Amino acid sequence: MGKIQLKSVTKAFGGVKVIPNLDLDIEDGEFVVFVGPSGCGKSTLLRLIAGLEDMTSGTILIDGKDATNLPPAQRRLAMVFQSYALYPHMSVRKNIAFPLMMAKMDKAEMNRRVENAAKILNLADYIDRRPGQLSGGQRQRVAIGRAIVREPAAFLFDEPLSNLDAALRVGMRLEISELHQRLKTTMIYVTHDQVEAMTMADKIVVLRAGNIEQVGSPLELYSRPRNTFVAGFIGSPK
Ligand code: ADP
Ligand code: MG
Repeated sequence: MGKIQLKSVTKAFGGVKVIPNLDLDIEDGEFVVFVGPSGCGKSTLLRLIAGLEDMTSGTILIDGKDATNLPPAQRRLAMVFQSYALYPHMSVRKNIAFPLMMAKMDKAEMNRRVENAAKILNLADYIDRRPGQLSGGQRQRVAIGRAIVREPAAFLFDEPLSNLDAALRVGMRLEISELHQRLKTTMIYVTHDQVEAMTMADKIVVLRAGNIEQVGSPLELYSRPRNTFVAGFIGSPK
């Protein structure tokens, strides 16, 4: 559950190769962070994994099975969007349940999952409120809850904290790390924030112009950056 392999993946937009040729293995249960400057292809890579974007060429395996042509709903991956993607007119309960309602899940199972997610995320007391009546951190938790109820093989986060203020970001960073420890589900987390990368990741993938510059643990990248680009990004003294 949750092993993802990319093999010779390429992506071009109108003849421009944004991902020239990329190979990457993500192990089950790993917390993998994609870092790199704006425009280096982090979001594109995440969207290719999610199936929201078609690859130009290459293969993606999920748990050893070829998922290259599977639509997003059949990949069992859950994308966590920024908190402003919530439905303002729906309660927390309905926002969290939304993907299950779309999948026409039976009500008892749906309620079980929503209540479990609300408990994990400390949202039980807020379940009947609307997003407008919540703090920024609570709203971000609702967005995560919407992913949890799908019981995905992996969570995909695209800069989920970038619209939160600095203090809140630190708290949410810890909460997402704790959630990973609790669920032990694969998480792929995109950020351009090196502190997030260094503190959250089991494995960091440093991207530059759609190529992987280096892959390693935070400590490996800090102590043995391959080049000045990686060193500059990770903040190590090379
Ligand atoms: P990042 O998330 O690292 O900031 P993106 O993956 O969003 O980078 O973008 C990588 C490159 O691909 C950028 O040059 C961007 O302009 C281009 N790009 C992304 N999406 C599209 C699209 N739908 N059409 C054309 N170009 C795109
Ligand atoms: Mg992006």
